Amino acid sequence: MPGIDTTTLQRLDAAHHLHPFNDNAALAKRGTRILTRGEGCYVWDAEGNQLLDAFAGLWCVNVGYGRKELGRVAAHQMDELAYYNSFFQCTTEPTVRLSAKLAELTPHDLNHAFFTNSGSEANDTILRMVRHFWAVQGKPEKFNFISRHDGYHGSTVAGASLGGMKGMHKQGGLPIPGIHHIDPPYWFGDGGEMDEEEYGRVAAKRLEDKILELGPENVAAFIGEPVMGAIGVYIPPRNYWKEIERICRQYDVLLVADEVICGFGRTGNWFAAETFDFRPDVMTLAKGITSGYIPLGAVMFNDRVAEVLATKGGELAHGYTYSGHPVCAAVALENIRILQDEKIIETCRNDTGPYLAEKWKALGEHPLVGEARILGMVGALELVPRKPAREYFPDRGRVGQMCRDFALRSGLILRATNDAMLLSPPLVITKAQVDELAEKTWRALDLTARELGMPTA
Ligand SMILES: *Cc1c(COP(=O)(O)O)cnc(C)c1O
Repeated sequence: MPGIDTTTLQRLDAAHHLHPFNDNAALAKRGTRILTRGEGCYVWDAEGNQLLDAFAGLWCVNVGYGRKELGRVAAHQMDELAYYNSFFQCTTEPTVRLSAKLAELTPHDLNHAFFTNSGSEANDTILRMVRHFWAVQGKPEKFNFISRHDGYHGSTVAGASLGGMKGMHKQGGLPIPGIHHIDPPYWFGDGGEMDEEEYGRVAAKRLEDKILELGPENVAAFIGEPVMGAIGVYIPPRNYWKEIERICRQYDVLLVADEVICGFGRTGNWFAAETFDFRPDVMTLAKGITSGYIPLGAVMFNDRVAEVLATKGGELAHGYTYSGHPVCAAVALENIRILQDEKIIETCRNDTGPYLAEKWKALGEHPLVGEARILGMVGALELVPRKPAREYFPDRGRVGQMCRDFALRSGLILRATNDAMLLSPPLVITKAQVDELAEKTWRALDLTARELGMPTA
């Protein structure tokens, strides 16, 4: 439909398109924002507004928008061989090269990849494969997964069940059996007066308590996001993951790191398992693996799991039509090449990341901000009614929404979850763009405070 006007698009959208995670009736009234173009850290909408995207789409556009190389390799691969599957003892060259590349990039002995179309499907895959891993070793009762309340592991049936979002569990009769949730490490919400070290131990011990309650002989795995994204960027204490790892080893429970957000540079290293110095047995990848240019997810397994599956697993009764799609694999390889050749992750770690952290922490001075937290290129501001108490506004979510809308009107995309403003910019953000981001965020905070009749800065 060339030349179709925005109003018509919005009308058709309201009539025919059900949006994910949306109150669709409210959206239809308000009118969808239609995005038309992206370049670097900016996107443009159909009204011609230029927006600094401080959320990298949905945590994913790590190399920034408009990288022509990615389109070129996709077109080339489509011309050459648009599709072939990895069933029937076949595969394609980009798929093989990507598995080897991921084996090289991921830490320790995560040397084996299984491909999916998304993070959700990768977690569904993990649930089945890990249970199978124990069953073929004569331990079918090692079946239970432990995860965290408020965690996010995707929207498929297993993904949403592993996740701990109550609103999601309510729709469709979740969680499925064999999944148990513990409280996450969230110092702002429940750290009380504990220091980081002590709180890290207390939060990790929740896993040990749950394992003992279920019986270690019944527990297959623990899964968690190294930094919990969707719920509000909960950054755990430094010692949390080391403790979790120690507990998993003690009871022979597999450790699954869902690095869908953290992977590919978000926390200042290629993977958060490096940032927090722990060794997962299994890792979930998606989002930054292609910088969102094309859908792709992957599960990485370590040698132990792969060896059991290879020697005792028999035929793997699992796979997707597009597992290892050659076009997606080619784009992922090119995305990784860009991250490597341009030293994007090193720049984040040593230069732009610290600069962003300094500016973001300074936003913590605003009367509306109860905590400014950041790790690498992912962070949050907790908006509070009065400082220094770590309290929430009544009617949670309203103030965050308000601040988000003020930011948008001044040309900045931030996400709001409850009353936390979430940050996850493209990794290629420059210092000048960080300045713009900080300035616009401060202004949005001011406008929000004024609207609430609170002191502004
Ligand atoms: C986004 C996300 C998922 C789900 O990935 P999809 O590609 O949306 O299915 C899983 N885990 C985490 C941590 C995520 O942020």
